[in-house]
Amino acid sequence: MEEEPGMTEPQPDRNAPRSSGLFRTPRVEEERDDRNRIKNLPEEIVFKRNARILITEMLELNNRTQQDTSMLVEEILHSVFFLGQIYSPSFSPRSLLDDDMFDALEKEYPQPFQLYSTRLPRRSPFSCLLEMVVCFYGQENEDQIRNKLKDVVHQMKEGSSSQILFSSTICISHTHNSCRYYGVSMSTRGRSAGEILVAASCFSNWHRSVSDAVMTYYPDKQKKSYFSRNMQLPPDVKCEVFNISEGRPMDLCRSCSDLFGLDTTVKKRWGYGHCAEAESLSNLFKGEPRVIEQLKPEVNANKGNRMKAKMRVLNHLKQQLKKFDTFKWDGKFYPNPNPK
Ligand SMILES: [Zn+2]
Repeated sequence: MEEEPGMTEPQPDRNAPRSSGLFRTPRVEEERDDRNRIKNLPEEIVFKRNARILITEMLELNNRTQQDTSMLVEEILHSVFFLGQIYSPSFSPRSLLDDDMFDALEKEYPQPFQLYSTRLPRRSPFSCLLEMVVCFYGQENEDQIRNKLKDVVHQMKEGSSSQILFSSTICISHTHNSCRYYGVSMSTRGRSAGEILVAASCFSNWHRSVSDAVMTYYPDKQKKSYFSRNMQLPPDVKCEVFNISEGRPMDLCRSCSDLFGLDTTVKKRWGYGHCAEAESLSNLFKGEPRVIEQLKPEVNANKGNRMKAKMRVLNHLKQQLKKFDTFKWDGKFYPNPNPK
């Protein structure tokens, strides 16, 4: 990865006088100032740098993996460009990439460059990276997957205390005899971006059971009187959550307990659908359809009420998108979840 100016740790100045008492104190203070400055890089610089870290990692893994993962590269480019477009100040793809990289990527993957200001991404960039990492290491290699993500997150955290384009938690779900299924929390900056991606995931990405559970509460943060599809997971479904960068296990939040019927002592409610559990369980349901048969969703949802709940989410999504006049949604998602 190319480093931004000022990203490296302060290096000793070779021309500085050797540690004589006279010069020592000012040098130490200068270095302390430098370190403080380096911990607080401007967010625009961090956004740009982190976008490049993600894209570079994806290109490298795409080159090294046996499978055809080029679609994931297209998807992350589009998702990063979309988030750049709605960032304040906004970034065009050209302002995020060096000229050479821009030309090469636009030639190889033209669609993300054409569609980032009219189509919504189906998920956040870090979810695309997660899928690539899982493809590369294999679904059962949890330690390698978590270590790789940790390594990327450490690069993205450097010089900043803001969480920009990376996820803080990973969830791993499985039953006693199933594979492991992964999910990460929403890697968006700012309330609107997160809200937009939760709605987009409900419509175009998550398994229907997860979308329905989230739409039961989203966007009003309380249960709808006319639509109740939160679920009680079967007892053999295990969901473990970890902080990616520190590796420590974490408790589930109260929202996830509401959505999936999982026990927790935590009082905190993160936004419904923002946590890593949603993506991880969605992947489990897609991969292990028999788990769905044992689910006991609350049954209070006829077709008309489901449509009403979807309209509520859609209207909220459109309200959020109105805040960004450079983005004109054509009503579609990228990549198309149902290619004809
Ligand atoms: Zn949660």
